[in-house]
Amino acid sequence: MQAGNMVSRRRLMLTASAVTLAAGIGPVVSAQEKKIGFAIVGLGGLAMNQILPAMAKTRFCKTVALVSGHPDKAKKMADKYGVNPKSIYNYENYDTLKDNLEVDVIYIVLPNGMHAEYTIRGFKAGKHVLSQKPMATSVADAQAMCDAGRAAGKKLSVGYRCQHEPFHNMMMQIARSGDIGQVKVVRGDTGFNCQAGVWRLDKKLAGGGPLMDVGIYTIQEACMVARETPVDVAAQVFSSPDDPRFKEVEESIAYTLRFPHGVVAACTSSYGYDWQNSFRAIGTTGWVELEPAIAYEGQAGRSSRFGKVEEFKLQPVDHFGVEMDHFAQCIINNTDVKTPGEMGVRDMKIMAAIYEAAKTGRVVKV
Ligand code: NDP
Repeated sequence: MQAGNMVSRRRLMLTASAVTLAAGIGPVVSAQEKKIGFAIVGLGGLAMNQILPAMAKTRFCKTVALVSGHPDKAKKMADKYGVNPKSIYNYENYDTLKDNLEVDVIYIVLPNGMHAEYTIRGFKAGKHVLSQKPMATSVADAQAMCDAGRAAGKKLSVGYRCQHEPFHNMMMQIARSGDIGQVKVVRGDTGFNCQAGVWRLDKKLAGGGPLMDVGIYTIQEACMVARETPVDVAAQVFSSPDDPRFKEVEESIAYTLRFPHGVVAACTSSYGYDWQNSFRAIGTTGWVELEPAIAYEGQAGRSSRFGKVEEFKLQPVDHFGVEMDHFAQCIINNTDVKTPGEMGVRDMKIMAAIYEAAKTGRVVKV
């Protein structure tokens, strides 16, 4: 077969499977197409601008309850998305969600430091839980969330939306296909200019700085390309001494991850510059990259394979919608979630080791 034909055939196969993966096609769904009821907890930027609009367009999900510290805002959102005003809760009466039989899933969209408490209380209310990333602010909390899910016999998923979108899946498939040879190096840079006065700069609520917020995506990417967990990590941080934003969390962090079978990842994350996000996997005979990599939309990717640079031509999806439909299908069909709590625990362990490495100046085992 000609090299050109081989590339096109392979690209066709990869395209089809990237889209299939991203669309969550796979699990068999019951003929009745039951909609799974979600309670959204915390009506902030992500919930109001991304999750609620995405939910309204899903096939298998509907918003049936809201939890907020601000009743006026909650009432407005309830009117907009057709939620019964009787199904508006606050943080005090949150546990009474257990009596609301319309609610199957609690979706935690609170500051990171509140994920563990509200997830564990959610499991005690007998619901499945989807928690935003990062899963928690410590390994112990993340583990306690998994344990609570297991004890309740309910599913736990972490909101790693990139794993549900086709550009990301295409990058992973090319990196793993052998088309760029053996992957040796992974690069990832993610960051944005964090505004002052927000919980993201508060150590207790955030757990850490840009590493916890957007660096987590580079860790996900590196583990997915390498298909294993790093053995050890090294890191350095820098915070501008005269910038009052960075009293509690780092401004910028550079970290390396060493994997058992020959892949090294070199990544950075920062709250000190305007949006940047890119991933790259470099193999012995080519490379594959995404930029932008983690934006809500507008992903672009390309690869250099068999001596030819090709842009990805893929149909974009709503990351949040596909992610929620996937979780709903897992509940309907009782199948495994793509991004389970255990994956969140792994990532928390890696980030804890990175912070330890930055603090001590030593290489730290994961
Ligand atoms: P926001 O600050 O915009 O919203 C957080 C909401 O949590 C608030 O609006 C508030 O809702 C509620 N809340 C309760 N207690 C507090 C408190 N003490 N301080 C601040 N807020 C509180 O954050 P985001 O929506 O940007 O982030 C929420 C979560 O989603 C985080 O874990 C973040 O990492 C994650 N995220 C994930 C993204 C992704 O792409 N997967 C993108 C952006 C964020 P109310 O007023 O209703 O009580």
